[in-house]
Amino acid sequence: MFVYSIPLRTRFRGITVREGVLLEGPRGWGEFCAFLDYSDAECAPWLACAVESATAGWPAPVRSRVPVNCTVPVVSPERAHEIVAASGCRTAKVKVADPGVPLADDLARVEAVRAALGPSGLVRVDANTAWDVDTAVRAIRELDRAAGGLEYVEQPCPSIEELAAVRRRVDVRIAADESIRRAEDPLRVAVAGAADLAVIKVAPLGGVRRALEVAEACGLPCVVSSAVETSVGMAAGLALAGALPELDFACGLGTLSLLAGDVASDSLRPVDGWLPVPAKTPEPDLRDAVAAGPDTARRWEQRLARVADAAGLSLALG
Ligand SMILES: [Mg+2]
Repeated sequence: MFVYSIPLRTRFRGITVREGVLLEGPRGWGEFCAFLDYSDAECAPWLACAVESATAGWPAPVRSRVPVNCTVPVVSPERAHEIVAASGCRTAKVKVADPGVPLADDLARVEAVRAALGPSGLVRVDANTAWDVDTAVRAIRELDRAAGGLEYVEQPCPSIEELAAVRRRVDVRIAADESIRRAEDPLRVAVAGAADLAVIKVAPLGGVRRALEVAEACGLPCVVSSAVETSVGMAAGLALAGALPELDFACGLGTLSLLAGDVASDSLRPVDGWLPVPAKTPEPDLRDAVAAGPDTARRWEQRLARVADAAGLSLALG
């Protein structure tokens, strides 16, 4: 096993450094990098995902590459245009509804993104639970106009009930992201009529096989997204995107650019908006460059041991 620590290029989820553990098994490497605010019990599926990669590999893919979206943070319209044009992606995800940022700024950013993509591109927005129902309905209608049509809006409100209420009042598709953190959640979202799409992440759902079962059970079209893993964990997300029977939406797997480094020189960075579906995880050959200090390493070793214990897994850690 190996503990890494990599600075983020921009603050994300309140963190500035991404940390995690890579585990080696008979089938290659797996990555365990549950965010630090997750309890040991919540971490069990993350570990199951790492163990699957390292010991079992993944189901055969049905496609060899997947489209990804570029991500536009809260930046000026000029910068938004540059980001989209430089990415080569045909789909852009635009962050909106940041605290203290007026809707007019979001509208200008979305217009700039549409101009950069041209009429055939797709614009999706992510509000990360920021709005109440009435605010969401108003904002979505205006953003949809500014974008010349939105592909979907991701998690406009915090609760499943609010998502359902917004969905009844707007024509734009609703995607659930934060509402889906555990394997039971996509089913709840579908039953409540709260979303048209589910954003699924391979680690919180417990690995590729489990995530495929969850996707099938909920019956919603899925968008596969990352949890900002290194290339080792990203490979598992790509294996999921590669194995889903239907994949009608670009994935949120182009996130390696958020990290200031990577564990592998064979890095999973998109080219012209596409990522390959790998047969196995890349070899983490840049370990020395991103190794965590001894205190961080010890903290993760202890966390891993606790999570394995809680999950009833026995890992031969060396
Ligand atoms: Mg999201």
